Amino acid sequence: MPTRFSQLSHHLYVHHGHVNTGILRDGNRALLIDPSGTTLHTTLVALEITSVEQILFTHHHRDNTAGFPTLDNVRVGVPSKAAAWFSEVETFWNDSKYRWHLYNYRPHNLMLADSIRVDDTHTEGAEMQWGPASLKVLETPGHTDESLTYLINVDGERFAFSGDLIYDEGQLWELYSLQKGQQTSDYHGFLGARDELRESLEKVRDASPTALIPTHGVVMRDPDKAIDVLLHRLADCYDKYVAISALRHYFPQLFTEFEGNAGHMPIREGKPPPEFLRHFGTTWLIISETGEAFVMDCGSPHVIKQIQRLQADDEISEVTQFWVTHYHDDHVDAIPEFQATFPCETITDSVVARVIINPTGFRLPCISPAVTRVDRITHDGDSWQWNEFTMTAYHFPGQTYYHAGLLVEGHGAKMFFGGDSFTMSGIDDYCSGNRNLLGKDVGYEKCLRLIQQLKPTHIFNCHVNPAFDFTDAEIECMLDTLAEREKCYTALFPWDHANYGMDEHWVRCYPYEQEITPGETAQLRLEITNHSSEPRTATAQPILPPAWDVEIDPAHTTIPPKADGDIDFSIPIPRSCEALGRIVIPIDFTYNARPLGQFREAIFVLT
Ligand SMILES: [Zn+2]
Ligand SMILES: [Zn+2]
Repeated sequence: MPTRFSQLSHHLYVHHGHVNTGILRDGNRALLIDPSGTTLHTTLVALEITSVEQILFTHHHRDNTAGFPTLDNVRVGVPSKAAAWFSEVETFWNDSKYRWHLYNYRPHNLMLADSIRVDDTHTEGAEMQWGPASLKVLETPGHTDESLTYLINVDGERFAFSGDLIYDEGQLWELYSLQKGQQTSDYHGFLGARDELRESLEKVRDASPTALIPTHGVVMRDPDKAIDVLLHRLADCYDKYVAISALRHYFPQLFTEFEGNAGHMPIREGKPPPEFLRHFGTTWLIISETGEAFVMDCGSPHVIKQIQRLQADDEISEVTQFWVTHYHDDHVDAIPEFQATFPCETITDSVVARVIINPTGFRLPCISPAVTRVDRITHDGDSWQWNEFTMTAYHFPGQTYYHAGLLVEGHGAKMFFGGDSFTMSGIDDYCSGNRNLLGKDVGYEKCLRLIQQLKPTHIFNCHVNPAFDFTDAEIECMLDTLAEREKCYTALFPWDHANYGMDEHWVRCYPYEQEITPGETAQLRLEITNHSSEPRTATAQPILPPAWDVEIDPAHTTIPPKADGDIDFSIPIPRSCEALGRIVIPIDFTYNARPLGQFREAIFVLT
């Protein structure tokens, strides 16, 4: 294997593996920053390093912390605020608050599968001396809450190992780690860590480093310019997000500074819904002239009581059909009880059905462990008659990829139930974990084209009382903004399409979690969305616990442009396996010849 490293000064080197590892060398001994992966060993041999004395980690992510042995004679230093996310990771993997009803994303889940020993914890301003160098610690939150920058003064220069704060001039490695709430939960905080990120970058700039060495990315010799370009680009990207954001309807106070900005869509007035509709919680209910009811979503037992009251008051006879708009907990939590109370046909789109019939197969924002029975699965454009109404079902990848839309035509109205996808101020894409893809025929582009074609008289959101609609000009404004976003977000990432930096789930395990008994063989599928306009190759290898003494060979696939591909693994679980409970299986992943380290994981629950 060829060695890949560069020398920054007499004593300082960087190994370029799937991440950059700093190597401060003094004779045959070394201090390492963010050692990860198996290729580092070759560089250490080439540099005749025989003794690694210290390791420093910038942040807790598994892709910069896993795969290099932290032996007993090596001191391991980590950010003080994240010490538990190194030495007690089991508390994360075993706590259901990090598995279900996910509205908060601290800590980020790209965490070590197994704990490692921690010797030193570092906080703001800590200084240390090692060999010919003096080191200083800066707390630089943004990419993660606890991220540190290590300043190294050596050979007359000052180098900043800045973690994943910045990738290259004007670029970030990804954006979904910046999903942090400011006044509400992290769920509403698209790019919510941007202020923290800016302050951290300014702090690094103020330290006057001669070079920035990112964990992912390219060594930057002009830190000032690299930071300036990034801050301008981020401000532009955020402005194009706010311009058509549905969140302006719910939390106008968060966006006062943006009011009147060029290209920002004015907020539309609502209109009263037709009198045969009822709205409780997140549920819309349609009453037919026969007295039957058609119900959409059931997030709480309160909704069941309200429907029973309608029955008791003779406003409705019975519920005959039930539609699910999407998988979020506030829409599905009470469905099992609803289904036990009202025997009726449950219908949803095939993409939504996949999640709600087996939620343990997924780890997504706001996911509920409630299992829904689905009686009929629809595909784009499937149509049926329900009493005097004509229903037409769509896959509607708006608020989430796993989302449905329903056109209901009757009584002279064309009503579109788009789940949570729109408010009067625009589109609901404020949680990057929801997979809001940019591009032609995907995500909101697909949704808006459908609305443009169907021309509904009323659009409904499950959380909003009034109905509303959009003018042709407003739809054009949203489509134009999405097209501009695709360009400016693509420029923000070192990928050939913005979706790689924005779609946390472009690589995912299915099932995410499964129960399995020692002696059985687990089936695991890695699904990959190729967001590029050209075919892409992918290689993956599950990393099994060493005690199992089982190695799974890497497997490959080629994925056509703008399509999903997958790699299947059969994993025999040794009969002798003693540790039961939740086992984290990291997946080492290489995409188009670029190694990404232990990029994703699956959970095996051994019983
Ligand atoms: Zn990271
Ligand atoms: Zn929702």
